[in-house]
Amino acid sequence: MLDVIVIGTGISGSFVARELAKFDLNVMVLEKNNDISNETTMANSAIIHSGYDPVPGTNKAKYNVEGSRMYEQVCKELECEYKRVGSLTVAVDDEQVQTLYELEKRSVINDVPVSILTRDEALAMEPNLADATKAVLLAESAAIIYPWEVAIALMENAMDNGVTLKLNQEVIGIKKLDSGYKVITTNESFEAKLVINCAGVFADKIHNMIAKKTFEITPRRGQYFVLDTTVGNLVNHVIFPCPSTKGKGVLVTPTTHGNLLVGPTSEVIADKNGIQTTMDGLQYVREHANTIVKNIPYHKVIRSFAGLRPSSDLHDFIIEEAKDAKGFIDVAGIESPGLASAPAIAKEVIRLVKSRIELVNKVKFNPNRKAYTTFAHLNLEEKKEIIKKDKMYGQIICRCETVTEGEIVDCIRRNAGATTIKGVKKRVRPGMGRCQGGFCEPLVVEILARELGIDPMEVKYDSVGSNIFVEETKFNQEQIKELKAKGE
Ligand SMILES: Cc1cc2nc3c(=O)[nH]c(=O)nc-3n(C[C@H](O)[C@H](O)[C@H](O)COP(=O)(O)OP(=O)(O)OC[C@H]3O[C@@H](n4cnc5c(N)ncnc54)[C@H](O)[C@@H]3O)c2cc1C
Repeated sequence: MLDVIVIGTGISGSFVARELAKFDLNVMVLEKNNDISNETTMANSAIIHSGYDPVPGTNKAKYNVEGSRMYEQVCKELECEYKRVGSLTVAVDDEQVQTLYELEKRSVINDVPVSILTRDEALAMEPNLADATKAVLLAESAAIIYPWEVAIALMENAMDNGVTLKLNQEVIGIKKLDSGYKVITTNESFEAKLVINCAGVFADKIHNMIAKKTFEITPRRGQYFVLDTTVGNLVNHVIFPCPSTKGKGVLVTPTTHGNLLVGPTSEVIADKNGIQTTMDGLQYVREHANTIVKNIPYHKVIRSFAGLRPSSDLHDFIIEEAKDAKGFIDVAGIESPGLASAPAIAKEVIRLVKSRIELVNKVKFNPNRKAYTTFAHLNLEEKKEIIKKDKMYGQIICRCETVTEGEIVDCIRRNAGATTIKGVKKRVRPGMGRCQGGFCEPLVVEILARELGIDPMEVKYDSVGSNIFVEETKFNQEQIKELKAKGE
């Protein structure tokens, strides 16, 4: 019997897995998709909120403030992008200026330093703020990350330290045993003393498999535009509108890789897989973004996408053991600021685990993980050096982002490695540039097939069924000879 099963590999499950890896435990992570963090953690604003705005006394406030203070160190250990760019919340009328003063009061209770700047001070920092800007609230501790990079790095590090990851394992049932639980997936079953439910928008479904219904998760969709890196410096901070009952509103922010991100909407929907963008949604994003930032060059949009906030009817994070299922721990309702809160939430999960089983520190836990080499960031000497060591770094596969074969092979061969085109794209970025994979995708297919020892026909873009090729359209030389010999 395992000690712990974690369900889900979003930012919550990945942080929990890595925290558990610090102890002498037998831990398994189950994920229904064929890659890590392919749901909400892959589609959000990527902001480590400073924590001044959640309502004081809520779980959101507690874990956001704690989590944002932990991120920089974790990102250092895992060699992940972390940029403390700061955030500006823009007031464009007198009522909103009052809201800024209310937020300032809240920041004192949450113990997060902020300051209110005049219009002139704000425009000196960000000349593209809307003309209507009256005042802004500056939170210097807000940061941006590359969310799935952090989740993948956490899981890689957890696996380097002994955690087992099982992909393509959708949990479809949980049964109570005398000393734990039997977790049944579409293809196998596993037994463990404790189960941690980190299943995002499906966390209520998982909870209801073993415990009485106590909450419901409704997806709240957010749609975005991604703009080309040539306009990534239109703003240098995260630019928020004044928050409303619908949430933080449509923001404009640079990304860690120099793009500009504009969004999201906030739409309550019924479909837990409803990640499509819509004309109306994207139009809403444009109209609202233009109220806080001017001159957004929408002709530079290279992609749009949507993510689903797992909003619970309890309106706060649920991090607790189910009352009627001892040893079954929910990490549910993790909507924004869930990304920012994840390191602190994982620590809370460890406290709950500790109340059920003895935790002994793993003597050989290694907190460090090496980043992939980013060829584009090397100087000429370093480039020559790495190509001398490994010829694959001399082969450029993605021209937009200058990604080499060496980087792609590295991201496939590691623990928690890529097995799909999107998996490679998420890890080392071929296809993230202006052409969105038009040139490099066939080459990535070839590399994946070779490295995984599979036929190119089996290579998938993303989830099951997303095969790139349907059938062969040309014959190779051998086949032509055979056909000729047969007189065909
Ligand atoms: C539009 C938007 C903007 C946001 N912006 C921010 C932000 O800027 N800052 C911030 O702090 N937060 C933000 N958030 C919130 C943040 O993205 C989430 O809180 C966080 O990603 C949730 O992570 P998770 O691991 O709990 O869930 P997920 O990332 O959804 O992971 C759940 C995992 O469980 C798996 N799973 C589900 N069911 C099963 C099953 N039956 N069997 C096995 N596996 C299963 C899924 O496949 C998935 O991998 C935003 C969210 C959205 C949608």
